[in-house]
Amino acid sequence: MSEFVNQIMDLVKAKNPAEPEFHQAVQEVVDSLDLVIERHPEYRTAKVIERIVEPERVMMFRVPWLDDQGDVQVNRGFRIEMNSAIGPYKGGLRFHPSVNLGILKFLAFEQVFKNSLTTLPMGGGKGGSDFDPKGKSDNEVMRFCQSFMTELQRHIGPNTDVPAGDIGVGGREIGFLFGQYKRVRNEFTGVLTGKGLAWGGSLIRPEATGYGAVYFAAEMLATRGETLEGKTCLVSGSGNVAQYTTEKINELGGKVVTLSDSSGYIYDPDGIGTEKLAFVMDLKNVRRGRIKEYTDKFKSATYTALDNSLDHNPLWNHKADCAFPSATQNEVNAVDAGNLLSNGVYVVSEGANMPTVPDGVEKFIEAKILYGPGKAANAGGVAVSGLEMSQNSLRLSWTREEVDGRLQGIMKSIHKSCYDAAERFGTPGNYVNGANIAGFLKVADTMLDQGVV
Ligand code: NDP
Repeated sequence: MSEFVNQIMDLVKAKNPAEPEFHQAVQEVVDSLDLVIERHPEYRTAKVIERIVEPERVMMFRVPWLDDQGDVQVNRGFRIEMNSAIGPYKGGLRFHPSVNLGILKFLAFEQVFKNSLTTLPMGGGKGGSDFDPKGKSDNEVMRFCQSFMTELQRHIGPNTDVPAGDIGVGGREIGFLFGQYKRVRNEFTGVLTGKGLAWGGSLIRPEATGYGAVYFAAEMLATRGETLEGKTCLVSGSGNVAQYTTEKINELGGKVVTLSDSSGYIYDPDGIGTEKLAFVMDLKNVRRGRIKEYTDKFKSATYTALDNSLDHNPLWNHKADCAFPSATQNEVNAVDAGNLLSNGVYVVSEGANMPTVPDGVEKFIEAKILYGPGKAANAGGVAVSGLEMSQNSLRLSWTREEVDGRLQGIMKSIHKSCYDAAERFGTPGNYVNGANIAGFLKVADTMLDQGVV
């Protein structure tokens, strides 16, 4: 590690104690930026990195609500407005019991670079709550969302900060949040993305992150003259990203053999084709059931419960060509990364944010596989959110084909920016450096233009 990286990390750790995910996300980026700082001392003089690791604003607030028994419940809400150099803050809301300040700061930090890569004018933010929608009634989720938005509405707006969904926040939650914003502010405006089609949503937004991660994998494969046709793929998660990753892999002729949730995973060597995927979508989105139920319906599959005493996740220990981690951060540890490589996986495209631990990333890079880090590979979701904002401003709706075409174009361009930046800074094929550097340069140059703010 260079002196510069050490200095930055000492500063970040001292100012943000007990936030390991935030430290991890910053470390990965500054390691890559070491290459840039050597050539561009002006960023160092203007303390661009010291500024970029400091959120512009952090909101933390009480979210009280009444459960179905009439008992008072209290959760904590957050919004991190990380960087607005190139556009209004943009980034999802996560509702999950594990949510805390450090996790949201890591996500907001990643979002800054990701949004910059999309070519659209969006700054970076993230928010959420330690509220767990699992096991709650629709009315409880509604009351929680109304209370959450009653506070959040003061801080957001279509030209200020535009949240979207993330883990635990899908169409149902966005609907309740939007309804309350509209009621309190008396404004019908594009303040959230991921909205329903009848009230300002964009076609392809639900599909965008998963489709984008597969388009990114296809672009990486194209550099070796290959396609996804006939490839066996491991997918984790069974939520929004995992579902549409599976749909697009199927469409491009690949075969998905795994899906999971936080209780365990299923392995179906026959592949999770269209009919089976429709079952999963109904199970997870409508019935809100568990992935284990897949094996009651499809006998070709086996279910393995999550075993925390193991040093690895057996989901990543099957013969395959490609892996699409699509559940959560740090879900691929160093042993898993080794298992993936020894099982023949040579394409990893991250639908989730920071799903691979640093030692795992190092293994992928050393092995010179096609490794697309989350901030590039899963940028399709926020890209189509950006397109939803454009459609809201224009007060019109583009067709499915038009949005999908733009999404494909954006993923191609993100791939090219990462590929070219990696090469320009002397690490060809290293998409981690490529994504961090290409994402950084646009934001950093803008920060220089805008002065010390
Ligand atoms: P969903 O809530 O729709 O699905 C999340 C899935 O991951 C569920 O299957 C869930 O299982 C599983 N999961 C969540 N937390 C854990 C955990 N701690 N351990 C094991 N499994 C877990 O979320 P999304 O599909 O939207 O998000 C998945 C990932 O993709 C996240 O990292 C998110 O940040 C990232 N992402 C999402 C975008 C989007 O547009 N939605 C955009 C870019 C990135 P269970 O049901 O048991 O909780």
